[in-house]
Amino acid sequence: MLELFLPRRCIHCGEPAKKGAETLSKYLCSNCLREYTTLEPPAVDELEDRTRRLSTLPFPTGVYAAYSFIPESVLQSIIHHFKYLDMPRLAKRMGNEVAVTFGQLANFVDVILPVPLHVTRYAERGYNQSAMLAKSLSKSLDKIYLKDAIKRTRPTPTQTGLTITEREENVRGAFKLTDRRIEQLKGKRLLIVDDVITTGATMASIGAELAKAEPKEVGFFALAAAQLGA
Ligand SMILES: [Zn+2]
Repeated sequence: MLELFLPRRCIHCGEPAKKGAETLSKYLCSNCLREYTTLEPPAVDELEDRTRRLSTLPFPTGVYAAYSFIPESVLQSIIHHFKYLDMPRLAKRMGNEVAVTFGQLANFVDVILPVPLHVTRYAERGYNQSAMLAKSLSKSLDKIYLKDAIKRTRPTPTQTGLTITEREENVRGAFKLTDRRIEQLKGKRLLIVDDVITTGATMASIGAELAKAEPKEVGFFALAAAQLGA
């Protein structure tokens, strides 16, 4: 709600941004908007490591990211603002943005689910930025959206600064499927949406729990793919 009352300044550089526009130009000045359009998806081998870590799951998996994370970039400002500075509608906006580029996802997805926050983190933030992304993506792609099918059963400390092994430990067993949703996921092609993919530890943990529902296949989609330590 706070964002309603803020003057329209570019969230990346502070220059004036457009008022009232329901596009990214509400958040970014024209220069930063131009920088945004030059952002590149991660190289295929950038995602291969993460995909390999999912190879023990009992269903086919795919890992997708709209952009490669670049420190200090306009993308970092976007993520920082919707994650920590009370801008849920910016996360929603980004879901619409990537739906345009990733429209072909519609051909191989039945159900879209967000990576959940733990209830205490949700209470602190007031919203789940991954859910905002997932919801607008599912709307744009005209897919079923299930926000409550996966629950985070314990608060997990931030993954920043942890090694791959520590990250895996951190999120192991941290997710649980909601019993009454299991039937709805059976035999379906699922897409799990997160804001940033780093090592893939969260995906592996969610994937292990999803096995219970026997999905046909599971894709993991993030706005950005970051290198460990970024
Ligand atoms: Zn700017």
